[in-house]
Amino acid sequence: MELLISLILFAILVSFGLPKIKGFLGEVSVRLYLNKLDKEKYQVFNDVLVPLKNRKASQIDHVVVSPYGIFVIETKNYKGWIYGDSKSKYWTQVIYKRKEKLYNPIWQNYAHIKALQEYLGTENEELYQSIVSFSNRAILKKIEISGPNTSVVYSSRLVSTIHAHKKVLLTTGQVRQIAARLEKTLKADGEQKKQHVKNIKDSQRFYQYKINADMCPKCGADLVVRKGKYGAFMGCGNYPKCRFVVSNKQANM
Ligand SMILES: [Zn+2]
Repeated sequence: MELLISLILFAILVSFGLPKIKGFLGEVSVRLYLNKLDKEKYQVFNDVLVPLKNRKASQIDHVVVSPYGIFVIETKNYKGWIYGDSKSKYWTQVIYKRKEKLYNPIWQNYAHIKALQEYLGTENEELYQSIVSFSNRAILKKIEISGPNTSVVYSSRLVSTIHAHKKVLLTTGQVRQIAARLEKTLKADGEQKKQHVKNIKDSQRFYQYKINADMCPKCGADLVVRKGKYGAFMGCGNYPKCRFVVSNKQANM
């Protein structure tokens, strides 16, 4: 019922064409899908900010911890046709007959897994499943995946993709330990977020936090790589409606 109401709301808002709300609801619909997982077996963590030594934190959309491994999920809310493979640095989005480049989300998610391995201290590769989830606004035209432990799916297929893994890799105690460690990041991040609300004028960090997560700080759309007169640059995927461009300083932070 909850899902049905959300879907109706989603349809209404999509028809109004509000990109910010669409992005937000894309994220919410993934949460609703993940809510269908059996809570006894699967623990879901949304918007995890992984603290790292001597480096900026890594932001992960969703982490699911279970006896069947750790599922690391990167959600993408792109429209249009999507082409890509495991080996290329950039994927292609074709929208309104225009081609845009996006940073390979499998690589992006691999960096998230590396960060999580470092933070959790569990480096066994077999434990981690990388899932890139596109909303139904995208059409996955040709996606070539090589190598194990990686899936690129529509968000509606997330739960069945997770359920396909049946091999028990972690004991109940290990699952509990990992979950407790992830719980800590949420608390720390909660404190940070409170700080941010206090210092609304200190929007620089908030901007940077979003840019580091490949999100437009102005409208919430994904940032994409674009070619300009003076070479490649990162800008809002919602161009020309939103004209946000990442400055060199922001790109290197
Ligand atoms: Zn934007």
